[in-house]
Amino acid sequence: AKDIGRNSFRFFSSEQHQQIHSRYQLGNDLLQALTEDQFELYYQPKVCAQTKCPVGAEALLRWKHPSLGFVSPDQFIPLAEDIGLIDKIGNYVLCEAAKQGAQWANEGIEVPLAINVSAKQMLDPNLAKRIINELEYEKLPPHLFSIELTETSFLHCLEETQITIKELRSTGIQVAIDDFGTGYSSLSYIRNMALDVLKIDRSFLINIEQSDIDRTIVSSIIDMSQAMGLKVVAEGIETDAQFRRLQQLNCDQIQGYLFARPMPALEFIDWYKRQQS
Ligand code: C2E
Ligand code: CA
Ligand code: CA
Ligand code: CA
Repeated sequence: AKDIGRNSFRFFSSEQHQQIHSRYQLGNDLLQALTEDQFELYYQPKVCAQTKCPVGAEALLRWKHPSLGFVSPDQFIPLAEDIGLIDKIGNYVLCEAAKQGAQWANEGIEVPLAINVSAKQMLDPNLAKRIINELEYEKLPPHLFSIELTETSFLHCLEETQITIKELRSTGIQVAIDDFGTGYSSLSYIRNMALDVLKIDRSFLINIEQSDIDRTIVSSIIDMSQAMGLKVVAEGIETDAQFRRLQQLNCDQIQGYLFARPMPALEFIDWYKRQQS
């Protein structure tokens, strides 16, 4: 028993140590990633549910770690929030996306772009001004830009958040609620906030063909949102059956591997042009 105890303790201890070390290490690496140009934005198209025409894109951040390869944003974004780097990283995303959108607009192809903004970034009272200034600097029309917020953004400093959203929307920048349905009191947010777009979380769409309940929920979300003047995007669509079902339920836009994965800028714009012609 003593042996097992010692072994299991040692095993646990070293694994824990490794975890702490790697998280700490990864945090340090993250700081370097910014200065050493290891980030890149990928773009995933959104298409019109009725015509399949591309109607815009979401910018998704990629980190190519020098020894680990690609690290998932689901891993490094929460870490960046914890160690106080999210504002810097968020600023990179903003500047990069605005620059890219402006470049495409100059080349004659207008691609409405969305960036993800984390709840921690919403605590910055100057966020709206920084976004507006950046678009002005790049001469990117605000109607070509939107931000995606998760419900966590509405948990803290509701008043500040409301002011930021109002300021952005007054210029024509659109605001989307992301991962809709996964939070605790989703309905109260859409009742109290003026927003433009609602993105239904993938978890409600995966079994839309098999589950009557999920289909009912999605159908109700779409009807309710549209009655309130929101555009509805279904995300994470991978099969044609899912797509046709959402088309039938009158969903506005679709995003998912069925159409395209997130792609580097050059590959994305090639794809986008091909679909338009
Ligand atoms: P999200 O905003 O909900 O983004 C959608 C995620 O689903 C992306 O994962 C995308 O690649 C993936 N996806 C798209 N279509 C499909 C599909 O058909 N099937 C499946 N299984 N997945 C699909 P990604 O790029 O790994 O990003 C994960 C999350 O990390 C994002 O979730 C977002 O919360 C966060 N994130 C990514 N980039 C940024 C960023 O620039 N800033 C912030 N604050 N968060 C970001
Ligand atoms: Ca998103
Ligand atoms: Ca989402
Ligand atoms: Ca998500």
